[in-house]
Amino acid sequence: MMFTCPVCGHQIQRSNTTETFQCARCATDFNARELGLRVKYRGEYVCTQCATRGRGIWKLAGSDVIEIALYFLFCAPGVIYSVWRRSSQYHACEHCDSVDLVRTSSPKGKKLLEQNP
Ligand SMILES: [Zn+2]
Ligand SMILES: [Zn+2]
Repeated sequence: MMFTCPVCGHQIQRSNTTETFQCARCATDFNARELGLRVKYRGEYVCTQCATRGRGIWKLAGSDVIEIALYFLFCAPGVIYSVWRRSSQYHACEHCDSVDLVRTSSPKGKKLLEQNP
C-alpha cells in the first residue's frame, strides 16, 4: 500500500498489518489508525459469549442443505444462492458460533481473559 507523506510528498510503501510507519525521507512518524487507514488485524479474538480465545472462523450464511436442494430442483436459483452465501460470510466463534467477538488487545477482550483464565 502506498501512502504519500503529507510533510514532504515522499511515497511511502507501508504494510497493511503494521500500525506505525515512518517516512524514509523526512523521518516523520505516522500512525495508520489515527490517519483512518485500514490496518489488518492478525491477532486473536475473544468470544464475549463463551470466552473462547482464538482466531474465529469464517462461516457461510444460509445452509448447505438448502443450497444442495436448490441445485437439484432448479439450477439457476442454486447458483444465486451459492453466490449470496459466499458474499455474506460472517466471522464467528469457533466454539459457540457467536458473532460477538472482541480483539484480545481491546479493553473488553483483556477483561474477558482476566475473568476466564
Ligand atoms: Zn516525509
Ligand atoms: Zn464462543
